[in-house]
This record gives sequence, structure tokens and C-alpha cells, in this order.
Amino acid sequence: MSRQLIVAGNWKMNTTLKEGEKLANAIVKKSKANDPLVIMAAPFTHLQSIGAIVKDAKGVEVAAQNCSNELSGAYTGEVSVGMLKSVGVKYVILGHSERRQYFKEGNALLAKKTNTVLGNGLLPIFCCGEPLSVRKAGNHARHVSKQLREGLFHLSKKDFEKVVVAYEPIWAIGTGVTASPEQAQEMHDKIRKMIARKYGDKIADATTILYGGSVKPANAKEIFSQPDVDGGLVGGASLKATDFSQIIKAR
Ligand code: PEP
Repeated sequence: MSRQLIVAGNWKMNTTLKEGEKLANAIVKKSKANDPLVIMAAPFTHLQSIGAIVKDAKGVEVAAQNCSNELSGAYTGEVSVGMLKSVGVKYVILGHSERRQYFKEGNALLAKKTNTVLGNGLLPIFCCGEPLSVRKAGNHARHVSKQLREGLFHLSKKDFEKVVVAYEPIWAIGTGVTASPEQAQEMHDKIRKMIARKYGDKIADATTILYGGSVKPANAKEIFSQPDVDGGLVGGASLKATDFSQIIKAR
């Protein structure tokens, strides 16, 4: 059991299908065997097509940016884990701050979504992170601890081992302000210790913890080389194949 280095791109609500296919093809073309695992979190409408593009590419996977906590039925507009699996999706981002903020997804719902994802053979990338006001008040560790306790820590050891955690301070997402490498390392270390207290050192040490928040080619190397940072969740810079590729190769 060891940590897996991952660089995941969160495309959010960007790209037409054609643009998305072009981007995915360019990323696949640039990817090399010794790169970290590359994950592209594309919009729902693109997943089948991008799933086919990455199907034979080693070390490249496709993710959804969200899913329903329900398995099927009268939930207009929702997308189920079964639907995602049927088009080749392996990972699902859960609890992104934009889902928490704009769609009012709370820890209780995210705990249910985590169960649904894991219970149906998919892997969650579980996001946590504090807003600026919480950071300024010095309560960021407490805030993240609550998100983890209420959203993830009900899981068995066996299930928790499959989770990827992404620490994304909200004040750094899409703002151009990056957490300093020291700030990122400090929180990643704290998160690993929270996991260790709940699941033990061995599992904590093997958990992949990604950093997210204005990662760019210019800052990726310094952030990713911190001992408890195991790669990144990248928004804006994942939409340009050359930038994303440089970030993938940064460490
Ligand atoms: C994100 O949306 O997860 C993110 C980190 O965005 P950005 O890299 O644009 O800050």
C-alpha cells in the first residue's frame, strides 16, 4: 500500500464536446508512462466520448465532477453512479467548494454520496477546504476536520483506503492566489494526522492528498515537492493542454 501521485484536472462547466475531445486527445498524447496518474474531470455530456479516448491510454482516467446519492428513479436532472460507470468513469469529485457553496451540498449529503460512489465500485476525490474568513480567524484546521469527520470518517478502513482527499482552500480557487508551499504542507500534514488518528498511521501514510487552488506550471513543482502533497486538483490551468502537461511533469 503506497500513496499514488495524481494530477487531476477539473474542467468545471467549460468546453464544448469538440473542444473537450481535442483537449483530452492532446493530454493523452503528451502523457508518459512515468507520469503521475492523470485524471480528467470532464462535464457529464463529454464523459462517454472522453472515456473512449482514455480507454487504451495507460495512466489516464476520466472522472465526473459530481453524482447523485440516489441509484435511480424520479430525480430529474441527476446523474447516477451506474450511468457514470457505464461510460467508463472511474473517479467522482465530491464536495467541491462550488458544489458546497452554490448548490448547498453539506457534509451529510456528501457522506451519502461517498457511500453511493464507493458502494458501486467508483472512487471518490473528496474535497475539503476553508473560506478566507475561517483562515483569517485561524480556524482552518477545525473547519477541515469537521468536513472530514462528517463527510468521510464514517467509512470502514477498507473503504477509506480507496478515497483520494483534495485540500482546496476556497480563497485560492480560481483567484490566482495560491497557498504557499508551507501553508499547503502544514494543512496536508494536519489532514494526514487527522486520518492517522481515525484509521491509523499505515492508512494515513498511504492516503493520497491532493492540493488544489490556482496551481499553475510556475508554482506546481514547489507545491508538489512538499512531503505531504501528493499531486494536485487543477481547475483553470487544466483547460490548456500545454499548461496541464507541464503541471503533470512538475514534480
Ligand atoms: C478547482 O476548481 O478545483 C481549482 C483548484 O481551481 P483553480 O485551479 O482554477 O484554482
